[in-house]
Amino acid sequence: MTHSDYTKNILNIKDQNIYFYENCLENRKDNNIEVKVFHGFLTYTPKCCDKCGVINQGNNDIINWGFDKNCLVKLPKVSNFNTILLLDKQRFFCKHCNKTFSAKTSLVDFHKQISNNTKLSVILDLMNKGSEKDISIRNNISTNSTNRILDDISNDTIVKNNGILPEIIGIDEFNATKDTISKMAFIIVDQDNKNIFDINNSRKSLDIEKYFKNYSKKQRDNVKFITMDLYKPYYSLMHSLFRNAILIPDRFHIVLQVRNALDKTRIKLCIKSNPYYNKLKKYWKLILKDKRDLDKDNKSYQKCFKKEMSKYDIVTYLLNTNEELYETYQIYQSILYSIDTKNKNIFLSIINGKNNKVSKYMKKALKTFKNMKSYILNAFDYEYSNGIVEGTNNLIKQIKHTACGYRKFKHLKARVMLIKGLYNPIKA
Ligand SMILES: [Zn+2]
Repeated sequence: MTHSDYTKNILNIKDQNIYFYENCLENRKDNNIEVKVFHGFLTYTPKCCDKCGVINQGNNDIINWGFDKNCLVKLPKVSNFNTILLLDKQRFFCKHCNKTFSAKTSLVDFHKQISNNTKLSVILDLMNKGSEKDISIRNNISTNSTNRILDDISNDTIVKNNGILPEIIGIDEFNATKDTISKMAFIIVDQDNKNIFDINNSRKSLDIEKYFKNYSKKQRDNVKFITMDLYKPYYSLMHSLFRNAILIPDRFHIVLQVRNALDKTRIKLCIKSNPYYNKLKKYWKLILKDKRDLDKDNKSYQKCFKKEMSKYDIVTYLLNTNEELYETYQIYQSILYSIDTKNKNIFLSIINGKNNKVSKYMKKALKTFKNMKSYILNAFDYEYSNGIVEGTNNLIKQIKHTACGYRKFKHLKARVMLIKGLYNPIKA
C-alpha cells in the first residue's frame, strides 16, 4: 500500500482518482483550534468533454491544463480534530471547442465544500435527538449548512419514497411551526407499521383534499380504516376522498369530551360562595377517576374533612352536594364503562335517554355523540385507535423542545422523519 492509499483509507475516501502528496498532512491552527489539513490532488483521463461532449480519444481531443489549486473540502473529524482536504483539481482543455473544465469527484458535490462523508455524518447525528446547533459544531459546519441538508431531506418526502397509501391510516393535527397555516400541521400515520406516513404543512380541508388527491382514486379506494378525533368537518371530507374506508373516532377523544364536560361542571361550582368550594377544588382528580378504581377500604386522614376517609367516601360526599354534578358524574361513568367494556347498548341508551338533570356541558357532549352516532359506534366495533398518533405527537413535542423550537416547518418535518427512521441516509 502506498502512503496515498493509507491516507485515503484513514479518511474513508473511495474516489480512485484522488491521490495524496508525500508529507500530505499539515497541523494548522485556525482561531486557536487545531485543524488537520490534508493535501491531495484529483486527476484522471476524461471520457469526453464536459462542454461539447466530444469523445476523448487522445491528445488530439483533450489535454491536461494545469490545476485548480487548494479547493477546500470539509471531511468528517479525524480523532476528534477538525479535518479539511485541500484538493488540487486537474483542469482540462478541449481542442474541439477550445474550452476548459475541471475534474469531478464523488467525494463532494460540484461547487460544494462539504464532503458527502460529512453530510452522511451530519444526517446520522440528526437521526438522534439533539439540537441542530450542537450537531453543526460537532461536524465543523455552520448551522445554515445543516439546515440546507434538512431542506434536501424535507423535499425528498416519504411519499416519493414508496408512494403507496397504507390500508389503515390515522390522522390528527399538531402544533407545528409559525410558517404553517394557523400554526397547525396535519399528520398521517400508518397504523400497520405504527409509524408516521407523512406530515403536511396545513390542516385546512382544501389543502388536505389536495394532498390526498395526489393519490389515485384506486389507491384511495383501497384504504379500509381511518382513525381520527371527533372533529366533524374531517368526516365528510374523508368520506368524499376514501369512499370505502370505515371512519373510526378515537376512543380517547370520545372519553375526553365527557371528561371535559364533567370537569367544567365541577369548576362551575368552584365559587367562593359555595361552602364546598375548597373540597371541590382539591379533589378534582378523584372525581374524574373511573369509579371502579376508587378505593373503598383504605382510609386516611383528610385535613379538609378533619377525619379519616376513603377515596370512595370523598367522591360520594362531594357528589351529594349538588344534584347536577351527581347526575353528570353518573353519565360520565356510564360512558367510561360502556367504552371500556365495548357495550354499545349502554352507550346508546345513554345518548338516547332524557338526561334533563345533567349540566349544559354534558348535554352538549351528548348532542355531539348523537350527531356522530354512526361513527362512534365504529369505535365499539373495531379495535383501531389513534394511540400511535398521540405517541408521535409527543415525540414531535420533544424534538421541538430539544431544538428550542423550529421556525421552518420543513426543518421540523425532516427531523421527525429522520428520528422516526423514515429516511434512508445511505441513498442520500
Ligand atoms: Zn469540447
